[in-house]
Amino acid sequence: VFSDVQSAPPIEVFLLNRLCAESKDPNKVNLGVGAYRTDEGKPWVLPVVVAAELQMANDKTLNHEYLPVAGLPDFRTAALRVLFGSEHKVITENKVEGFQGLGGTGALRLAAEFLKKILNYDIVYVSSPTWGNHKGIFKAAGFSQIKEYRYWDADTRGLNCAGMCEDLMAAPPKSVVILHAVAHNPTGVDATKEEWAQILHVCRERELFVLFDIAYQGFATGNLDEDAWAPRYFADQDMDLFVAQSFSKNFGLYNERIGNLAVVSKDASKLPEIRSQMEITIRVMWSNPPNHGARIVATVLNNKAYYEDWKGQIRTMSDRIMKMRHELTDNLKKLGTPGNWDHIVKQIGMFSYTGLSAKQVEYMLSKNVFMLGSGRISIAGLTPKNVAYVAKCMDEAVRAY
Ligand code: PLP
Repeated sequence: VFSDVQSAPPIEVFLLNRLCAESKDPNKVNLGVGAYRTDEGKPWVLPVVVAAELQMANDKTLNHEYLPVAGLPDFRTAALRVLFGSEHKVITENKVEGFQGLGGTGALRLAAEFLKKILNYDIVYVSSPTWGNHKGIFKAAGFSQIKEYRYWDADTRGLNCAGMCEDLMAAPPKSVVILHAVAHNPTGVDATKEEWAQILHVCRERELFVLFDIAYQGFATGNLDEDAWAPRYFADQDMDLFVAQSFSKNFGLYNERIGNLAVVSKDASKLPEIRSQMEITIRVMWSNPPNHGARIVATVLNNKAYYEDWKGQIRTMSDRIMKMRHELTDNLKKLGTPGNWDHIVKQIGMFSYTGLSAKQVEYMLSKNVFMLGSGRISIAGLTPKNVAYVAKCMDEAVRAY
């Protein structure tokens, strides 16, 4: 039965993790996976998460019964408040509902399933480049046309907003567009507020269905409200839209698989029907979601003191990342590395799209600096101890190739 099964291509970030774990080089650096690391290069369990877990462990009213199909109610409403702010009209006018997903990935998959099976969408536009899983998720949900819109401008190492708008303007009717809400992965380049206004105009003009992906709220500026500006702005305009939220990064809850799909319906009266169809869609995928991550997030977000602690800990993470951007650029400047490296500081969020070519990346790998073939590095993997080594390898790569 299995004799014809062929190996699939490896998943790049997980391959890099394995290669890095296997490497005996004391100077090895993992800049592949998008996960926060401390100054010591270690994973960080947020202190507020530990506090919530201790409280949960001592709470005798909790149990391991099934959650509702749509997820933990306290989590779903709190997640929406973080996303939109409690005063936003979609919240005060009850035009939004959340559905717990298995991480941001699960929220995206739920969105894709609903768009395909319930609303008969078949075309989706993703940015070029985009996060490695977007295309696969939509393909797996049955979308037959997965198209790209221009995004990255290699010359300016910035956003090609005119190209993006032109491509979206040419989208056929009934297309979905995925927009990275903040801290674009992999480029670290976001639209300005003026550019978002142009993008909104095109989406309205072409009647595109907008699905925001927000996996880094808080990571870009350190401020949750500022980082959610784009989805809030679109939701201001009386549009039907989806927002797939992930709490993997901003809570450091990567393996708890906690996310939320926010459904904004300009007609509030449609939400019960939408909910019933979402529940059927969830039922055949994971039946009902896991509890632990949802309970942690809900405990923190529904407690004033914990919430303040969490915001402080997000700032700790985003500040450290920003510091490492500066240190990497300073090191490159000190070495006189050919080229302009200011984009590393200008880009935001967890990643930098360095602009290193495939050959230069190969050189980095040969020095056991693990990074994606596209030239993307996770800035969170840099530390005061390894940044000079990474800069030296980049310098050598640029001079050699
Ligand atoms: N969307 C983007 C842009 C991401 O970078 C990621 C994770 O790296 C996700 C979604 C998925 O997040 P999660 O790990 O919560 O599934």
